Amino acid sequence: MLKLDLLRLGRSGTATIEVEVPAEAPLWVGSGLDLRAPVRVRLQATAVGGGNVYVTGAARTTLGFQCRRCLEGVLVRLEEPVSMLFERVDESARDTGSADVYSLEARQTELDLAEPIREQLILAAPTYVVCREECRGLCPGCGVNLNTEACVCAGEEPDPRWEVLRTLKQE
Ligand SMILES: [Zn+2]
Ligand SMILES: [Zn+2]
Repeated sequence: MLKLDLLRLGRSGTATIEVEVPAEAPLWVGSGLDLRAPVRVRLQATAVGGGNVYVTGAARTTLGFQCRRCLEGVLVRLEEPVSMLFERVDESARDTGSADVYSLEARQTELDLAEPIREQLILAAPTYVVCREECRGLCPGCGVNLNTEACVCAGEEPDPRWEVLRTLKQE
């Protein structure tokens, strides 16, 4: 699905890949991503000489999270720019150490972009998600969601003196 024919790319110079990977695809199993929409991948591959391939584009989807403060479900739209370089290496010189540089074996004729895209999405997924900036979270005392409910913990009762003032104002 996300495979690139390197022989054909060598002849044409560029290739476009447009794929929609379903949220249920085996590729995402164990990724820790809670996909709520298919992953739409649009990539442009360019042969950059020496058998190397430059891939650029974007992957977008919708991810599900739990708000870190109130634990409500939150949907996050993710649109991740992708830019990867695949370099031909001989078997001895592997691993450039850089996250976005991948190695291509000398005799490899097909490039499978599924794994790199999976990796990029995992890295791009936010780690701290709140439903909104002003989320008041859960009361540490009684556990109510302070966004939707008034807290009934001791000490949080309205002061009766203010009650008096309020009645005076209304008169
Ligand atoms: Zn929240
Ligand atoms: Zn409370």
